[in-house]
Amino acid sequence: MQALDPIAATRSPFGTVKADASPQRFTWLLGHERKMRTYLGRTLINCLPYAVGTLIAYYCALVGIMSTSLATALVVSRALSLVAIYAALRSGWSQRFRDPSLALIQVVTALLWTATMYLVTGPLHTALLPLLVLSMASATFNLDASRARLVTWFAVLLMTVVMASATLLDSTVYAPKVQFCLWVIMASILPTGLLNSMQLKRLKHRLKTQREELRVALTRLHDLATHDELTGLANRAHMGEMLEQYLQRHRDGGETFSIALIDLDFFKRVNDTHGHGVGDEVLKAFADAMRRTVRESDLPARWGGEEFLVLLPQSSADNARCVLERLRAHFNAQAVSPTVPSLRATFSAGLVSPKPGETLAMVLERADRALYAAKNAGRDHCYVG
Ligand code: GH3
Ligand code: MG
Ligand code: MG
Repeated sequence: MQALDPIAATRSPFGTVKADASPQRFTWLLGHERKMRTYLGRTLINCLPYAVGTLIAYYCALVGIMSTSLATALVVSRALSLVAIYAALRSGWSQRFRDPSLALIQVVTALLWTATMYLVTGPLHTALLPLLVLSMASATFNLDASRARLVTWFAVLLMTVVMASATLLDSTVYAPKVQFCLWVIMASILPTGLLNSMQLKRLKHRLKTQREELRVALTRLHDLATHDELTGLANRAHMGEMLEQYLQRHRDGGETFSIALIDLDFFKRVNDTHGHGVGDEVLKAFADAMRRTVRESDLPARWGGEEFLVLLPQSSADNARCVLERLRAHFNAQAVSPTVPSLRATFSAGLVSPKPGETLAMVLERADRALYAAKNAGRDHCYVG
């Protein structure tokens, strides 16, 4: 049976199912691989706080809070760390690590940079707190639970040290009372953000599980709708659709094909003599024999009861006859029931190729007549109609 993702799947004109490939954008920047694109996308989003920090640094230089060379050193060092992370991801070098997204390194470098900026931006230091929260929000969402917790406590500890040091170094600009208030805000916001991220992650995980369950259920439904449960072959409804498509293609000037309508001989006797269970074994044995004998491109189906139909693409009825003779040689000689090893079975078949202007019903009617003739000829025959 065909494996497919029914959610992302579309139907091709001939019944095969192919994935829906939406075009990728910015491949020059993000590459093609799905996971790598996600990692790189996150890294580029992390450049946003950096851009804001750059503006703050140069504004501080402009108004004389820090020297231009210090602002440049801060901006360039951060730019270099971001470029190095981007290169490590884009080149695939990061794949050798347990965490190929380098999420931990990214958040730690962002934290260290933000903390340094906090110390040197003087009266503008409060502007750094939103940037800190932004970096932490993305980190806690992208890291696993234990690392996210670790990073949150590291950030709280780091900022505690930074705020205390700032107050000790310059209590006029970093007033102790203000720093204390900022510390309380920071120390309560970061763990709250962590809890929210954890909740979102649990939700994301639940959605992923449900999507997988839905995919499995849809695949099962598709299989049930298109396949016969006993033999695993395509069922009549599915084969009917395929036949219509092949016939349409043939009418449009496409290649020819043949149909073999097959009926097991004296099958009722098998049921009556050995029971329905043995009858089922024979049906399965015939399906297996078909699968083993027909060509890869041929499409066997259970047409109903002890009747089968094989669609043979690019075959004239005479070519199809060779395939059916091979099947006959194989099937007639084999044991068809593990319960009754001595049991043998035969089949009769009617073979046809569509003629110009024929509908599917007309083609099947001719196949049925050929099958009837084969039965009348004493069974164990293949007739071309
Ligand atoms: P003929 O050579 O003329 O085809 O004779 P036959 O006995 O094969 O044909 P008939 O139409 O008289 O009998 C077909 C039998 O197939 C009757 C029915 O009970 C049996 N049958 C149909 N579906 C199944 C099934 O899924 N399992 C089993 N065990 N028997 C089935
Ligand atoms: Mg029959
Ligand atoms: Mg029969």
